[in-house]
Amino acid sequence: MPVDYFDPLFFGDDYRPPESSTVLANEPDESHTIARDATPVASPASNVSVSISTTFHAQLGFTGSLPDTTLMTSDSVLFYVHSLHLKRSSANGFGTLLLKTYSTSIPVQETAALLNVVLHSFYNMGCQKYDPSVEIMLQVLDSLKKYGARLQHIVAPSMPLFNHFVKQAPRQPLGFYIVAASHDLHALAAEVSGYLLSYPLTSITDGEAEKMGPLYYKKLYVLHRSRTETLRTLLFVRPEGHTATVNCSPFDQQRLKRAWELAAAQILWDTQPDLSPSVIQNALSSLASHVSCDICKNSLDKKISQILVQWSMTPRTIESSSKSLAVEGTWQKTRFFTILLPTSIG
Ligand SMILES: [Zn+2]
Repeated sequence: MPVDYFDPLFFGDDYRPPESSTVLANEPDESHTIARDATPVASPASNVSVSISTTFHAQLGFTGSLPDTTLMTSDSVLFYVHSLHLKRSSANGFGTLLLKTYSTSIPVQETAALLNVVLHSFYNMGCQKYDPSVEIMLQVLDSLKKYGARLQHIVAPSMPLFNHFVKQAPRQPLGFYIVAASHDLHALAAEVSGYLLSYPLTSITDGEAEKMGPLYYKKLYVLHRSRTETLRTLLFVRPEGHTATVNCSPFDQQRLKRAWELAAAQILWDTQPDLSPSVIQNALSSLASHVSCDICKNSLDKKISQILVQWSMTPRTIESSSKSLAVEGTWQKTRFFTILLPTSIG
């Protein structure tokens, strides 16, 4: 269960947000992890019910200063913030909200669950303990942009929000890829793309393609294409033959090559970019049971091992998949599906 991000409190009718104060801050104090029982003092003799953030409360210290501004969400949860820090971290005065003077809490359109992630991001604080839903995470980049956050910094690799996106990516990989792409966050899109290897690109709707944009659609296409073409190229190279022996003639070795081609064709017939190495291994290793020549068996084992190693090293994300397209030309010159079924193997 996610941790509650606010406590309901009861304030007196004379309750007022904290007075404004000058804040010089860059990083949050240790006190930002304050416990729930350290939420602000309030008068219980009231008839006004207010919920308040358990992290962004009136006592949240930030480089020695207390909050000077309060934000009220659409579902009536109060967040205490340091206006100077938000203005310095924002390119537009936190959506112009902090460019004006308010005598009361500033209303925002976001729900508490969404604003909670937005503010944690502005303060470079992790919000994993709240386990925000996929729906919230899919909205947070748009909200951060609306409030003038510098996304390339806030969602840079190793930043708390970046790590949280990566952790949640398996839940909704296409959705996270789209939001990363729509904000041109390549590093995040690259991390997420690894979870899309089994996703059929033909299932992407026009609207989804439009949201991610042609560049990131192409990156995904190249990733899928490069992996399937790499596998074709790896399987094209047959096990090495050897000089004829009493037990293994050139004809016997030719039958092994044709059996290899058949197994390769079966692997590639319905292959996916995320094809498991075990599928490749099982399909190719089965050929050994029909081979009596030890030299051919060793050659077969060696080739299978080489393919599995190279397949495991084939890029799995858009980060570097474009470099693998060089193999495409090789395959186009060397298709080998026009083979005959072998009757037996030497
Ligand atoms: Zn042989």
